[in-house]
Amino acid sequence: MTECAIALGSNQGDSLSILESSLNVLNQIPGIDLKTTSSWYQTKPVGTAEAQDDYLNGCVLLSVAQTPEELLAILQATELQFGRTSKGDRQPRTLDLDLLLYGDLVLNTPNLTLPHPRMTERAFVLVPLAEIAADWIEPRSGTKIAKLLKNIDTSGVQLFMMA
Ligand code: ADP
Ligand code: MG
Repeated sequence: MTECAIALGSNQGDSLSILESSLNVLNQIPGIDLKTTSSWYQTKPVGTAEAQDDYLNGCVLLSVAQTPEELLAILQATELQFGRTSKGDRQPRTLDLDLLLYGDLVLNTPNLTLPHPRMTERAFVLVPLAEIAADWIEPRSGTKIAKLLKNIDTSGVQLFMMA
């Protein structure tokens, strides 16, 4: 089993219930154990082409038997199950599930980059992740999550619901 970190986000539909239901779905898949859930945060959209609604974001730690590619396929199927239609460029979405960390694996393939390439600059990822994995070392930078968080602006991220 490998410890993984996943980022969740939603800014379409009943986001809180979509996020929580998606965790139940993942936890019921054989080989996936949900270990820790962060609080939910309300966050300002970043990197979007046009104005869109605030997101709810959070992170979880999973213990998984799957390979990284298998896990990514499960995350993408779960996004579709919750009605996700848009792809890329931070378009509005009912559910976004990103694989942030898979143990200390560094991987660069066309479909999967680990650690997630943009996690170190995203407050909506690092704030919830630091809550549940402050001492995890991001293996590309060799830097702890808590330290990465200190280097970024977190003003667009506010607590929505405590874990
Ligand atoms: P974002 O979440 O950055 O807004 P998308 O969810 O639309 O963008 O992008 C998903 C694409 O990114 C997929 O095609 C997937 O193959 C690729 N990808 C590469 N690395 C990862 C990763 N670590 N986690 C999730 N998707 C990844
Ligand atoms: Mg994504």
